[in-house]
Amino acid sequence: MTMIALLAGDGIGPEVVAAARRVLDVVAPDLTYEEGLVGGAAYRAQGHPLPPETLDLAHRADAILFGAVGDPAFDALERAMRPEQAILGLRKSLKLFANLRPARLFQGLEDASALKPEIARRIDLVIVRELVGDVYFGDKGRGFTSTGLREGHDLMRYDEVEVARIARVGFETARTRQRRLLSVDKANVLETSQLWRDVVNEVARDYPDVALSHMYVDNAAMQLVRDPGQFDTIVTGNLFGDILSDQASMCAGSIGMLPSAALNHESKGLYEPIHGSAPDIAGQGKANPCATILSAAMMLRHSLDRPDAADRIEAAVAATIAGGARTADLGGNLSTDAMTQGVLATLETAA
Ligand code: ATP
Ligand code: MG
Repeated sequence: MTMIALLAGDGIGPEVVAAARRVLDVVAPDLTYEEGLVGGAAYRAQGHPLPPETLDLAHRADAILFGAVGDPAFDALERAMRPEQAILGLRKSLKLFANLRPARLFQGLEDASALKPEIARRIDLVIVRELVGDVYFGDKGRGFTSTGLREGHDLMRYDEVEVARIARVGFETARTRQRRLLSVDKANVLETSQLWRDVVNEVARDYPDVALSHMYVDNAAMQLVRDPGQFDTIVTGNLFGDILSDQASMCAGSIGMLPSAALNHESKGLYEPIHGSAPDIAGQGKANPCATILSAAMMLRHSLDRPDAADRIEAAVAATIAGGARTADLGGNLSTDAMTQGVLATLETAA
């Protein structure tokens, strides 16, 4: 029996996770679910954003479908108790070191992109971002210099095992696509990046069928806006990946359309929309459910080995959007429910 942990969280999280669940019930009716509290919802009920029962559920599940965490009501709490800590805790505890963020422009959404339509239309890439290392997890501190100035530091570090394992995910991902992998670093300035480049080149020997190239991050940021169509698969570190993937998402249109996966060695994964809890529209039935529905498709593909069901969902979302269905973020007036109905109806017609 395949069990999915449903961690809906805060804000629009419960609305979009419920929508994805309805779509999953059509393409994979045998899946079972257990719901867990996470984020502000968990803090409210149990006094902690990531209660032990939720962490246990995440470890027991075959995969995790995650909504969003974040609630302005808890902004004043100490950092460890804030809703956002829940997702960091899950990534760390499950060792979810590989973050996959596909960015493509759905046909008909050219207007939503920050780029010119003819350039936007060419975007179809995946960013493979390292998720548990780099400056986010290196030694951190605040103090004073010898002359009494306030000082802060965050150590950027990687070891070769950490680089090799994410590089492999990059090559494997490229193999499922156009077999072109771009590794992004800052090797002209950073020691970590020189190690990164050396190790990526070493791993490349196992993937002679993939064309590898390297680019400095500043150039990559520029090229992503100039012509994102040149990229297929991009592998990069945690900090650079954080920035480049947000940038790529704006090129591809609405934040409400883009899914993500965070994977570990066992291909256990946590799947979530790239957007947050959107407190400004929570509870109003306005949220675009597509990012979460597409995250469920990634779950079927990467953790549950059901690529056909994943393809069905992705084709149904693409056809629904191409048919003109639009929630408010896409300039239309469909509710979350109506958009979900649209995807369900398209699935039925295609079956
Ligand atoms: P986080 O820090 O959790 O990433 P954030 O501050 O980046 O959150 P979001 O919650 O992602 O912000 O929301 C940013 C904007 O995008 C808000 O105006 C929100 O209403 C809108 N938005 C986010 N997700 C959706 C969605 N699924 N459908 C429609 N609008 C959305
Ligand atoms: Mg955000």
